[in-house]
Amino acid sequence: MSDLKLVGKQHRDHKSVIKVGNELVGAKELCFIAGPCAVESAEQLDEIAKGISELGVKFMRGGAYKPRTSPYAFQGLKKEGLKLLKDASDRYGVKIVTEVLDTTLIEEVYPYADILQVGSRNAKNYSFLKELGKIDKPILLKRGMSSTINEWLLAAEYILMGGNENVILCERGIRTFDTSVRNTMDIAAIPLVKELSHLPIIADPSQGTGQRSLVTPLSLASIAAGADGVMIEVHNEPEEALSDGFQSMYLNTMGDMIKVLRAQAEHSGRTLNLTKEPQTV
Ligand code: PEP
Ligand code: MN
Repeated sequence: MSDLKLVGKQHRDHKSVIKVGNELVGAKELCFIAGPCAVESAEQLDEIAKGISELGVKFMRGGAYKPRTSPYAFQGLKKEGLKLLKDASDRYGVKIVTEVLDTTLIEEVYPYADILQVGSRNAKNYSFLKELGKIDKPILLKRGMSSTINEWLLAAEYILMGGNENVILCERGIRTFDTSVRNTMDIAAIPLVKELSHLPIIADPSQGTGQRSLVTPLSLASIAAGADGVMIEVHNEPEEALSDGFQSMYLNTMGDMIKVLRAQAEHSGRTLNLTKEPQTV
């Protein structure tokens, strides 16, 4: 672990807090990011942005450039998707988390994103990670689906080495022998990363499980394990989604989810970073 020169903890209480505009990630309030896997249309995004912002959600995710296993699957609306994210952000005041797929797209995505997401498939793309070290916006670094914790922290080290210290780690499940779930959510990674690194860590139980019914339980487990937030996929019509519908929450269940996550956060001496108090359960 000796190569964790920049991401490693220098002392027991060493914790980084990442600023995203006037919001903080890694402080007492847990960050809650919700939104569709992919931006699909103006109507879809508007309905989701409206729905989540009414519940007090401050961060919206949505892929404009999608890394799909099949080259024939929906690849995202690209620049048009970025513009729709910006419109939704202007209309509802949500901060935008969106994926940047490669080095050539950093310049294009940069102005539209409050947090640039680096996907699991890019977690070992070292020349790309080095380029992300040169920008000044927060990076959400997903764990590679076959990365050990050390490899993942070294990926973050590449970004910090370039001068960008604003890295938020994201546990999104790993591939194991068990095919009954899409990925195996590594809950142990959360407290372990907290022991090893000062960087904040959030959880993505949507990619982490691939199954809607498991997203709330695994979000609760992640918060109990000390995560600094969760990112989940939500859709207005999951059955019609162009990607990851089977793991996307129904928009009309988000209110209940937020209430239970908030209760769990309070058990852990924290709270959820929302614009308003949710109704009590
Ligand atoms: C996503 O967040 O939609 C995504 C593609 O994530 P991952 O890179 O973790 O597979
Ligand atoms: Mn997805």
